[in-house]
Order: sequence, then structure tokens, then C-alpha cells
Amino acid sequence: MARILITSAIPYINGIKHLGNLVGSQLPADLFARYKRARGDEVLFLCATDEHGTPAELAAAKAGKPVADYCAEMWAVQDALGRGFRLSFDHFGRSSSPQNHRLTQHFAGRLAEAGLIREVAEKQVYSNADGRFLPDRYIEGTCPNCGYDKARGDQCENCTKQLDPTDLINPRSAISGSTDLEVRETKHLYLRQSAMRDQLRAWIDSKTDWPILTTSIARKWLDDGDGLQDRGITRDLDWGIPVKKGDQDWPGMEGKVFYVWFDAPIEYIACAAEWVEAGKGPGSEKGWERWWRTDKGAEDVRYVQFMGKDNVPFHTLSFPSTILGSGEPWKLVDYIKSFNYLNYDGGQFSTSQGRGVFMDQALEILPADYWRWWLLSHVPETSDTEFTWEAFQQDVNKDLADVLGNFVSRITKFCRSKFGETVPEGGSYGPQEAALIADLDTRLRRYEAHMDAIEIRKAAAELRAIWVAGNEYLQSAGPWTVFKEDPVRAAAITRLALNLIPFYAGLSAPFIPDAARTMAEAMGTNPTWPDSAETALAALKPGQAFTVPEVLFAKIDDATREDWAARFAGVRG
Ligand SMILES: [Zn+2]
Repeated sequence: MARILITSAIPYINGIKHLGNLVGSQLPADLFARYKRARGDEVLFLCATDEHGTPAELAAAKAGKPVADYCAEMWAVQDALGRGFRLSFDHFGRSSSPQNHRLTQHFAGRLAEAGLIREVAEKQVYSNADGRFLPDRYIEGTCPNCGYDKARGDQCENCTKQLDPTDLINPRSAISGSTDLEVRETKHLYLRQSAMRDQLRAWIDSKTDWPILTTSIARKWLDDGDGLQDRGITRDLDWGIPVKKGDQDWPGMEGKVFYVWFDAPIEYIACAAEWVEAGKGPGSEKGWERWWRTDKGAEDVRYVQFMGKDNVPFHTLSFPSTILGSGEPWKLVDYIKSFNYLNYDGGQFSTSQGRGVFMDQALEILPADYWRWWLLSHVPETSDTEFTWEAFQQDVNKDLADVLGNFVSRITKFCRSKFGETVPEGGSYGPQEAALIADLDTRLRRYEAHMDAIEIRKAAAELRAIWVAGNEYLQSAGPWTVFKEDPVRAAAITRLALNLIPFYAGLSAPFIPDAARTMAEAMGTNPTWPDSAETALAALKPGQAFTVPEVLFAKIDDATREDWAARFAGVRG
């Protein structure tokens, strides 16, 4: 039994995520976690909300709530949606947890001791009316280049010129609109990532099995231009983890918090501590450090991370700088699976513009399995891909309704009408069944290989082919015709076809867990991973009772598709 630690990139707290976010980390991570559990491995699957930073503060202010209350409410919303999509996290934590406070302060202290943190005096814009320093993007004014009057302090959206806040003409606070701004000096801590460059390069060079998408992004940040830069890890904000050196105060850093990019990845570790302290799971009593400290049992853990490509620099350079720089035996990631973007109907999904389908809306119109199947079988592995309503309708109707659903419905109803609701006895498997079993065994091994390699599209294609093989067998064996001449032979065909249902349930469960459960329960079993097609297709014995399940997947008709396309064409209300 292997031990697998799986983390999904942690979603930001301010609002509901769209399907592009979902397929870019949480959903493929869930697929892998479900698969590894089904194969008997010990899995710890963690995710959390990323709660600190100015956007959370502003969203809370807009909602008229204290930021801690706002985050608690939004965590509950995201938690419920994750469960709605059947994301099987062992724990869904929060980066604002006390565990993450302690660990983030601990890491900062270790990095300071190792000489990897330096203090930098900076000039920053302070808003007297807001009583706070303003991050660059929260200062607005007129662009000196093109005259656009809503340019941000970091960049003009209109002409894309990179700006400094002091470049803006008539600068004002984006929070209050106040022009009562001044430049003040403030001190910040920087993580000396540049000092870690050779160590990081050697580590990344050793990862010869990583996807090119992952390593190419890492190398670009390591070497482009002046190479990897030191990064500020503190901010002048109220909401966040107070800057401390371990449990000691940090002179000169009073009233400051760690910057969100520093504390967010540490939540991967803290989340395991949350899981243990919540007393969840059969493995939790053994402690979280056996997943995270190589001196305390984690030396045999394989750690796999899932994320969109925009998160790769943080996970290949910044977080490893924290871990390596601490000088302590923390577990480093073994494999990073990164994804391109899913686009929406001729454009991009956009949270700020409310464009696309969001997780809550998706579950209002269809159960999770429809979305899981389509999104995972089109996951943007090698390039960006696009969601269109036509493609969604076509694939759902074909793969789920016509192939899988129809197969289950057809054979259970046929059996009920000719033999009753028990697996029929008599006859034996002949050459046609032997050929099917041999084919399915080959496909089963191939499917497992793709799942082990996290080649998700190939795995989905193989699973689809496994469903198709059963349909084609049933079509060509034709028990409804054979029954008239040779009911004993028809019984053997029916018995094999019924045995395909629990076989499919086990193999399909990582993709479509609800339908898999329905299929298995109809046959009086639970979804389990088959050892081989040969043993699995003889598992249901003659005389075993079953029930005809409800329709597994309803087809999407053209009128409904057009309705949805129109409903989600505009901006989210
Ligand atoms: Zn401009």
C-alpha cells in the first residue's frame, strides 16, 4: 500500500468559482484521489480556502461585514459547493486557521535564522481618509501615456503600460475615492529567493518526469531577464497573519501581516494539522507530521499537487524556497500536474465580469456527474480548451445517455422481462464472451496506466471505450433475438452483461461517483476496483437479486441547450 498526499491549489475566498477554476485543480485532484483510494492506497487529500489579502478585505467591506465573518460565510459556501461536486477532500481547511498562523510564523523565523530574509525600506502610498497604505492596484488615476482616467497604480488597462502609482495624474484611492494621499516610508521583509536559485535549479532539473508545462514555466522564472527575484512577504494590512519570528515579536514589524502568497501554500501543511485536530479520518490519530516531515514518517509519501498554469511559479519556486530555506526536513512535492485554461463559448471565463458558468449555477441545472464527466474528459492538459453548449450536449447525450445509461437500462429491463429480477442461471460463456473479456482486460490495464500517469484525457477515452465495448457486445450477441431460439444461451449473455454493470461502476466511480453508486447498488454491491475483467465478470452469481435502476442520465434536448446558452451568455446577475 502506497501513501499518497494530494493537494489542490487553494481557491481564493472572495466568491464562487467558475467551472474553469474547478477543472484546473480541484476536480482532477479529486479524480486522482478517488482512483488511488480505490486501488487501496492510503490517501490524504487536502484543500482549503485562501483567505488573506486586500481583495478579501474589500469584498467584506462591500458586503458590509467584518472580514472574519465574511470569510467564514464564504468558506461555508465553497465547502458546500465542493461537496455538491463530490470533491472528496479529507479536509477542506482555511488559510486563516490558528494552525496556519503558527506554521507561517515558524517558517518565517527559520528563514530569518538562515539569513534568507532581508528588510527593505520602501516608499508607499498612504491614504489618510482610509487610514491605510494602499496596494498599487488600489490606487486609480489618469494614465500619463494614454489619458485613460481609470488607470491602476500597477498598470493601465487601456494601453497596458506598466505604471508606478506615482506616475498617475490625479491619483485617488480606489477604496474611498479620496485624493488625500501621501507617500510614506514603510519597511517590509523580503524572502531572498535569489540566494536559493542554484538549489532550486538543481531540484527542478532532477524532476525529469514532470510535465513540460510545469518545468518550462519554472525555468522561465528562474532564468529570464535578471533571474529569480527576491519577493516581499509582508504587507501593511490588518487582515492576515501577524508578522512574528516563530512565537517572538519581530521588532520594527509591528502591525504588519504576512503577504498572502507566503502564507497560502503553507496552508497545505497547516491543513493536515487542522485535519488531525478535527479528529477526522481513520489515519488522523497517527498525526499529521507523518505526512509532512521526512524525519517523522513522510519519507515514503508521494506528494502530488494539482494547479492551473498561473500557479506554477508559486509552487515550483516560492513555496520550495520556504521549505528548502527552513533547513528542516519538510516534504517537497514529488509531482506537479498543471493545467492550461478552459475557455467559455468563444471567450474566457471571468470571475470579475461574471462570464461563464459558476459552480452554484451548474449544480442548479444538472447533477454533478454530468459536469464531472464533461470537464474531466476535456480537461485542458496539453492546450487551452473550450466549453461550448453544443459540445456539452453532444458528449453528455452520447457518452453518458446513449452508451453507458442505455446499456444499463436495456439489459436490466430485458432481464426483468424474460428472467425476472435475478441474475439468470444456465449456459456458459463462449468464444464471444472470451474475446470481450480479453479485450476488457487489455483496456483495464491501459486505463490503470493512464490513471497512474495522471493522463486524464487518455484515461477518459479508455473508459469510454470500455463502455462502448459492452454496448457492442450486447448489440452483436443480441439476447432478445437469441432468447426465442435458445433461452439458455440468452441467459449466459444476459448474465455477462449484468456483470458488466458492477465492473463499470468500479471503473467509473472516480469520474462519476453518484452514477457509479447507483449502478453498483442496483446490483447489490458497492463500487470496487476489479482485479481483472475475468474475475469481475463472473462475480454476480446466478440467483442474485438486482433492481432496475432509475434512468442514469437524461438527454439534454435542443430547447434546453438553447435556454442555457442564452441564460449564461450575459453577465452573472
Ligand atoms: Zn494608458
